[in-house]
Amino acid sequence: WETDGTVIKVNKTALDFAGCTEAEVLEKPAWEGPWWLHSDEIQKKIRHALHKAKKGDLVQFETTLHSKDGQSHYIDFSLNPVKDDQEKVILLIFEGRIITALKQVEQELREARDSAEAANKAKSQFLANMSHEIRTPMNAIIGMTYLAMQVQEEEKRQRFLQTVRHSAESLLGLLNDILDFSKMEAEQLQLNNLPFNLRQVLDGVKSTMSVPITEKGLNLQVTIDERLPTSMIGDDLRIRQILLNLVGNAVKFTHSGAITISAYLENEQPASGATAVHFTVSDSGIGIPPDKVQTIFNSFEQVDNSYARQFGGTGLGLSICRQLVALMEGRIWVESQADIGSSFHFVIPLRPCLPEAIVIDAPNHHASQSTIKGLRILVVDDNEVNRDVASMTLEHDHAVTTASNGLEALVALTSRQFDVVLMDVQMPVMDGLQATTLIRAAENGHPLSLDLPSDTFRSLVSQLSGKHLLIVAMTAHAMGGDREKCLAAGMDAYITKPFQPDQLNETLCSLVAAQSSKDVPSANTTTANPSPTPAVTQKPRPIIQAIAEHLQATTRMSSAQVETILFKAQTSITDTLEQAKQALEKEDYSRLGRAAHTLKGTLLQCGLEDWAVKAQEVNDGVRNCQELPYAALLNSIDQGLRDLLTHQNTPGAGVH
Ligand code: ADP
Repeated sequence: WETDGTVIKVNKTALDFAGCTEAEVLEKPAWEGPWWLHSDEIQKKIRHALHKAKKGDLVQFETTLHSKDGQSHYIDFSLNPVKDDQEKVILLIFEGRIITALKQVEQELREARDSAEAANKAKSQFLANMSHEIRTPMNAIIGMTYLAMQVQEEEKRQRFLQTVRHSAESLLGLLNDILDFSKMEAEQLQLNNLPFNLRQVLDGVKSTMSVPITEKGLNLQVTIDERLPTSMIGDDLRIRQILLNLVGNAVKFTHSGAITISAYLENEQPASGATAVHFTVSDSGIGIPPDKVQTIFNSFEQVDNSYARQFGGTGLGLSICRQLVALMEGRIWVESQADIGSSFHFVIPLRPCLPEAIVIDAPNHHASQSTIKGLRILVVDDNEVNRDVASMTLEHDHAVTTASNGLEALVALTSRQFDVVLMDVQMPVMDGLQATTLIRAAENGHPLSLDLPSDTFRSLVSQLSGKHLLIVAMTAHAMGGDREKCLAAGMDAYITKPFQPDQLNETLCSLVAAQSSKDVPSANTTTANPSPTPAVTQKPRPIIQAIAEHLQATTRMSSAQVETILFKAQTSITDTLEQAKQALEKEDYSRLGRAAHTLKGTLLQCGLEDWAVKAQEVNDGVRNCQELPYAALLNSIDQGLRDLLTHQNTPGAGVH
């Protein structure tokens, strides 16, 4: 430009951008050029820039402009004075750089920072809440234990201990929530698909919540649509968990009136043949403001985040519900009006089944009623309190010995006979997995690769050789994969700490029963029939039959149950293999990992360990980002299983 702003030269890029010719621009004041005309603001900026640049200053400003094609652009303008020898401004160079992409990146970065800051704030809030939620029952436990130790009257002591127990249970509920939450974040949570009775689930929720509901003077009603099938296939425990969470919230946020739980046949039914069931939990409570009805389903979000809030909680419950419903391929939402009440809805597809299929619970009830007594139990745990709790729980009915790590356990096993070992997993000196591997090696007379005094191992072999000692993992490691690790090390069962006495009793009952049912034929073989029929003359055991026997022995299910499970296992194996192949084709490795994980679980459950190991290899490979021949591995599992089913008795791939 001349110093008065008359344009004397213009480049092609500027003309192209503005969509005009040189003639329209040259010899005119810059602010009259056609591309500025649209905006007073830009004209003002240019005049202002000219005013300053004439005095010798470099002027810069950013603005948005529309190009010829109507697109909006961010432009960084500069007006640069050119001076002669006497420092007099003789010309001005006006330059514009398009910085739209840069601005977009800046904007994205700003948004990312804002959302990270918001997440960070929510997590800090969560930690503060969590600390409060943990401390409240902890205070009660510490205070009440102290009082129970002081007090003389038995009746009062019982009351204090009741409070201790309730507080400990609520603490455990909180820990379970955290565990579920982290499992879901790590995509490790898997659903069970088993037949269940819908009414039983709803009645169970009602009876669990009856105490707090009565205490608050509320009323709870349960309604079930008669058109719904009574028996369905799905994860009843998780459905119960969602309902308990919603009803728990309803009780917490309702001061008076009624709460209803209902299950209806959804109007629109899925094409898949499943039945869409619409669950609703309604209350007459404080309601939720409209701007919060979406956010409360996010992790750590609560309507009232202030320190002065009236209601306890961590903000995890609804996030867990949302994720569980999503895993079940359903949807969840809330309708609410402040001061009138809230209705939480979720719709999930469930497959109807015949009522006969629901026999899964029966052995549990049966087992919990029958108690087993007189076992010689070795409790191995490095934590003294855990050891004490386990042995005190057990010593009423059994003979209990304790050891504080794997090595001590092995030493104990060299000198005494035991029926069952309750083995913690994580321990110093020697962990539970290692100890189990050594025990199994001694039973099978395998040489050991670990440093163990040779006389200890010799005594161990002489005590255990040819036997099968029952080992139950007893661990606080409740993440996915731990169970498999314990079973792969040779443990027979797995319970999570803190164990419930009933759960332990059930596990012991079913293990001992399964073992004695295995022992009977072998005892017969050695006494009544000392020379068993040579293997070659035996009729080959069909693989399906073998899996069925394995399932029956390891789970104590009835033959009808085993049949249902077999059918499901077969469908699940075929489906997950297909999913894994598809995921591999689409290079979706996280899906491949998940499918391999599920596949491994099902194969293990069926006792098909050799193939489970291959599925685990795929899973581990994906997790460690290794380049493995995944397609070949999947094909070998596929082909191997086909061979098993057609040839019935492939050597080396049998049921373990
Ligand atoms: P928590 O109850 O532990 O805070 P949730 O995720 O279960 O966590 O619930 C998140 C928030 O949603 C609650 O803090 C509360 O503000 C709101 N909310 C949930 N259920 C109800 C309800 N029935 N009535 C009113 N508000 C509710």
